[in-house]
Amino acid sequence: MDFDLHMHSNYSNDGEYTPTQLIQMAHAKGIKTVALADHNQMLGIDEMINEGSKYGMQVIPAIECDTKFEGFEVHVLAYGLDYNTEYFKSLNKKISDLIYDSTKTRLELFETYFNIKLDVQRLMDMVGEKGKMIDAILDILNDPRYKDVEAFHPFLPGGEQSDSPTANFYWKYCFKGAPCYVDVAFPSLEDTVKEIHKAGGIAVLAHPWKTFYQREDLLEKAISQGIDGIEAYSNYHNDEQNIYYEAYCDKHHLLMTCGSDFHGATKPKIQLGEYGYKKNNGQAILAAFNAYLK
Ligand SMILES: [Zn+2]
Ligand SMILES: [Zn+2]
Repeated sequence: MDFDLHMHSNYSNDGEYTPTQLIQMAHAKGIKTVALADHNQMLGIDEMINEGSKYGMQVIPAIECDTKFEGFEVHVLAYGLDYNTEYFKSLNKKISDLIYDSTKTRLELFETYFNIKLDVQRLMDMVGEKGKMIDAILDILNDPRYKDVEAFHPFLPGGEQSDSPTANFYWKYCFKGAPCYVDVAFPSLEDTVKEIHKAGGIAVLAHPWKTFYQREDLLEKAISQGIDGIEAYSNYHNDEQNIYYEAYCDKHHLLMTCGSDFHGATKPKIQLGEYGYKKNNGQAILAAFNAYLK
């Protein structure tokens, strides 16, 4: 595809590549429009824009915000916003502190739930101030002391959840409703959308996936809080979900976006510029998106 509106650099706690590397990789794949959507921060945007200009690429400033909506953790993408506003400059520190605390609580829950003893302090030192939960999960899964923990086996090489072991593990055990879920007091979706609009950006519901699938009451409520569009095509969706969200956008005259959510090593199956949309290289979607952005 010619464009990819969702990718992460190593400024995100789960991204592998620098913004410069992302541009070079995107260029090599023939991608002409990109948006860097790091978690809760925009530190990589200047580098992305500078590097992109060398290749004549359109680089759209973006961010992916952790928010709370109806008790769910919901990711909201913002595009085209002024990234020097105080709110977005200070957002990362605020969220990092919340995540650090929640990681610690989650590790303590792992001890109880899996009946294991973890070196919590060593894991916390390793995850660092960004509270990189996935690093802790990977360390635990690969620790020979826990090789007999049956619940870990599907995530180990050859296991049925081993394609993205850390992400799959997180969803199975740490998602809302799962046994090691920790409620984190992220800013509300409504307040986040207000800040995005104040900064001149547009707000898009990222990979609505299972939280919103066939829950039109929830979708409608999120949209009523100012959501401009939906990331209909995402690698987290199956074909049915992609089509469902595309049809929903059509029916409700909502902006529709697509994005790979490329991270590099933590989600190895995901490739830049690929998200399941094929029609006419997505030109109509990109044109509508650019028109909305103005
Ligand atoms: Zn996300
Ligand atoms: Zn993302």
